[in-house]
Formats: sequence, C-alpha cells, structure tokens
Amino acid sequence: MAEATQQASIDVARIRDDFPILSRKVYGKPLVYLDNAATSQKPRQVISALTEYYEGYNANVHRGVHALSMESTERFEQARKKVADFIKADTAESIIWTRNTTEGINLVAKTWAQEHIKAGDEIVLTMMEHHSNLVPWQKVAQDTGAVLRFLPLADDGTLDLDDVDSIINPRTKLLAMVHTSNSLGTINPVKELAARARAVGAGVLIDGAQGVPHMPVDVNDLDCDFLAFSGHKMLGPTGIGVLYVKRDVLEKMEPFLRGGEMVLEVWYDRASWNELPMRFEAGTPNIADAIGLGAAIDYLEAIGMDNVREHEMRLTARALNGLQEIEELDLFGPRDVNKRGDIVLIHSSEVHPHDMGTFLDREGIAIRTGHHCNMPLMRLLGVPATVRASFYLYNTEEEIDVLLDALKRALRYFAP
Ligand code: PMP
Repeated sequence: MAEATQQASIDVARIRDDFPILSRKVYGKPLVYLDNAATSQKPRQVISALTEYYEGYNANVHRGVHALSMESTERFEQARKKVADFIKADTAESIIWTRNTTEGINLVAKTWAQEHIKAGDEIVLTMMEHHSNLVPWQKVAQDTGAVLRFLPLADDGTLDLDDVDSIINPRTKLLAMVHTSNSLGTINPVKELAARARAVGAGVLIDGAQGVPHMPVDVNDLDCDFLAFSGHKMLGPTGIGVLYVKRDVLEKMEPFLRGGEMVLEVWYDRASWNELPMRFEAGTPNIADAIGLGAAIDYLEAIGMDNVREHEMRLTARALNGLQEIEELDLFGPRDVNKRGDIVLIHSSEVHPHDMGTFLDREGIAIRTGHHCNMPLMRLLGVPATVRASFYLYNTEEEIDVLLDALKRALRYFAP
C-alpha cells in the first residue's frame, strides 16, 4: 500500500495486509475489531514511521543547528502541513498539536472562551455531545455566568431543529457541536448550523473526533473557527491530536500553556510570544507521534476519504439491515445511511450489554459496551448502557455477518 495511488473503491484484503494486528486471534478465533470509535488500529506504515524516527533522526525540534534536529523539525512540520491539507486549511499555522480532541476543546475553553464569553451569554451545544464537549463548557458557564443551551433530539436520533431560531439567537456566543455522534452515529448538519451561528455573530467549534477520520472534511466549507480531532481514531498513534483554529481568530488568542518554545523573547519580568502556531505549543512537543499521524494521513489520502466513506456506508447499511431483523434489539440513530456514520448502537431489554459484550468477546469480536461518555444522552434514551459497534476501512462485510450471527446466538444463550 505504501505506493498506492487513489483507487476507485477499496481493496479491503490489501488494506488488511497492512495492519499486523488484524491477523491475530483472540480466544482462538480471528479478531473482528469493531471498536473503531474508541480507537483505530495502525497500519505498518505508521508503526514504521515511529521506529524510523527513533532509530534514525530522534532530536528535539526548532532548537538545534545539528543535522538530526533539522531533520526532525522538517518532518515534524511536514506532518503539520499534511494535517492542514487533509482538512483543507489555508495555512499550517492554523494547526496546533494537542494530545487529543479533549485537550483541543479544553484549550478553546481556557483561552478564547474566557475572553469572549460573559455573564448572560449563551453557549449552544446539542443533546448528543460527548462528555469532552460538554464538561469543559459547564466549567466556562460556572466561571463566567454564561448559560448552556441545547439543541434537542428528534425521535430518529437526528437534531430537532424546530426551535433552532430561538436557541441560536443574538445572545449566542458559541456553537460547540459534534460532527458525527459517537453513540447515535448521526451526522449533524454542521455547515448549516455554523452559518446560523455566524449570522448572530457567534463562534463555531466542531468536535471532529468521529467525523474527520471517516469522511472528507473541509474547514473552509464548514466555516468553523475551531475543529478538534484525535490522531488515534484515524490510524495514527495515541497521544497526538489536532486543534484547527481559523488564522485570524488564533492571532488574537492568548496562549494556553506558558514556558519554552512558545516565547520569542524573555526578560526576568515579562515575555513576548513566538509566532503561530508555536505560541500554543509550550514545551517539547510530541514529535514522534505527530510524524506518525502524518504517515496515517498519507495512508488515508492514498485510499481517498470518499472511498473510506463509501465503504463504511456499505458496511453500516448491511449492519442496519441485519439488526432491524432481530426483534429483541432496539436500534438507535437514523436508519438512512446518508445521515449517519459508521457507528451502530443497540440495546436489548433481555440481555445486559456487558453480558452481550463478554459473549461477543469470547467470539473474538471487539465491541464497546457502556455509556460511551454520553451519560446524559443514555438517560434521555432511557437505557443505562448499550452495545456499540463501529467500523473502519479495514472491516469487511463478512465481519458484519459474524457480528450479526453472534448477536443472535447471544440472545438465544441469555434468553430468559
Ligand atoms: N468527542 C467524540 C465525539 C468522541 O467520540 C471522542 C472519543 N470517544 C472524544 C470527543 C474524545 O476523544 P479523545 O478521548 O481522543 O480526546
């Protein structure tokens, strides 16, 4: 795959060969990895990029005049450029390295929000936010006296936009919302809602944790100020994430953490700030994993994000068709695959999700059970916990069938 060019559709068998972990067995059964919303597996190309860095040119960035440092700086900054191109950002200066989506959102909450949000202002979220895009705004509201407002859900798991004009109003200072829900799978109309927020002068933050890894995303088309996502969910290493910030917004933001790297000049009593984006990257950054994420982006670009999306729609349609036929299961989220990503969420009143998860695990199938960092949403759905399966470019239609078959057997096994 290293030299792969854009293909018309996905060659899954060839892709799977690039992922060493996919050939392992679990309890003697072939691994069926369907927990991609939690984290994705890594292709050999990403693993090699990490080894090559540590074996070949490990050195700190931006500081040294020696060859290794210059090489690591070049590769590190190339990775930043790859990220910028991947989300169609105008400049790599808009790309701030973080640890993950959560840190990116907290960065905005601790900097931009503290400056722009005052008592009585409103922050608009949706009722399907991951805790990472809810709890930081609760703190901003507590600190500033701002009010949190929520776009509600319709029965099919999409947003109910009947009252959108009263919820997004001139008091709104920020719309912070998830692109693809990590529980319902719903793909939200972020572009349309961003335009409404803009019309009342509000800022727009998108939680791209489940969007960016699975479909083409263009920050200029969405017209968002902030987009946060995690490398580990898009074939990259853990510990590296991205916060995109629109260039003119970033220019006016106060630094987040203070120390080395982010300064231009320092006196005993004061300091001036480095240029963008280093101003927001205090201390030694996560060099190896940023380079690893660059390799992951190369990999995804070679496949083509349209092809990734198309393949996942096929898998999701197959899963939904099969699940709909299993009477004992409740299904959540929209039925139309055009309105949803690669995630299916199920619940059975007859079998506890953890029992279901354990049964599937013994079959070699990795899925997620629990509240998926969506406790308020689970309460709204009236379920304490659910079973979630989530797909990626290396999953096959056969694996969906293995899941469906195992679910049916689990239901028979645990039948009251
Ligand atoms: N938002 C969404 C929608 C997510 O699915 C996740 C990961 N489960 C996060 C935020 C947080 O991502 P991370 O743990 O990588 O910060």
